Amino acid sequence: MPYLPALRRGAPFLAFFAACSLCAAAALGQVTDNQQIFEPVPARVNARAVTTPPPSDAVVLFDGGNLDAWREVNSDAPASWLLLNNSMTVDRARGASTSIETKRRFGDFQLHIEWSPNPLIDGDGQARGNSGIFLHSQFELQVLDSWDNPTYVNGQAGAIYLQTPPLVNASRPPGEWQSYDIVFEAPRFGPDESLLSPAYVTVLHNGVLIQKRTEIVGATYTDLPSYASRCTPYAYAEEVDCTGAMPLLLQDHGQVVSYRNIWLREL
Ligand code: MG
Repeated sequence: MPYLPALRRGAPFLAFFAACSLCAAAALGQVTDNQQIFEPVPARVNARAVTTPPPSDAVVLFDGGNLDAWREVNSDAPASWLLLNNSMTVDRARGASTSIETKRRFGDFQLHIEWSPNPLIDGDGQARGNSGIFLHSQFELQVLDSWDNPTYVNGQAGAIYLQTPPLVNASRPPGEWQSYDIVFEAPRFGPDESLLSPAYVTVLHNGVLIQKRTEIVGATYTDLPSYASRCTPYAYAEEVDCTGAMPLLLQDHGQVVSYRNIWLREL
């Protein structure tokens, strides 16, 4: 039986996990066949998006003009998201998932990205403004409309998906622009392709710290989060070498989410 539904019914583990969300995240690699966490719920913080123009040493990934820095995932096909009002938007009319990734690959980086779920609320929980920023193609920083929209806390906006909830909920109402500022440290592999160091990520959501050099315990959407020298990143069809630099990937989850002002500084 999945342990978290048991938690929701008040199993004895509840007090322990409620007091120690990081312990819960750390335990994910060992205990679960259902990786969702429901408590504690991150406190709300009233904050507003930070709009920072790219500094002089940034790689501009999207300035509203074109999608030249992007392509469809694991493909040579050009990115096909909709360009409108200096933003790019998941093209829901396409039907099939069209997640996109950068043509360039990156190791450690600082990333600024702004995003906005569609203001027309058309679902609840994970079905409301769902997208995602896959760091190194593998590790999802969740994008979701988390304004008055409860879901499992390691699946809300700012979560390292199915791993670590955000420290607080700094979400804005749907339709407003929001910002993530991200510092990502890529995993390191040794000459024998063994893992030397996991990935770490620091995230500010609308200027508020929500992930503080959080250890990423492995790739999203594996049975349990794990690292591998050869892996199959999100929306890839085949294994690839995951020991070096990797693209940045934006998720098409079939819901209308827009992005703008995306720039990155290699570290
Ligand atoms: Mg997502």
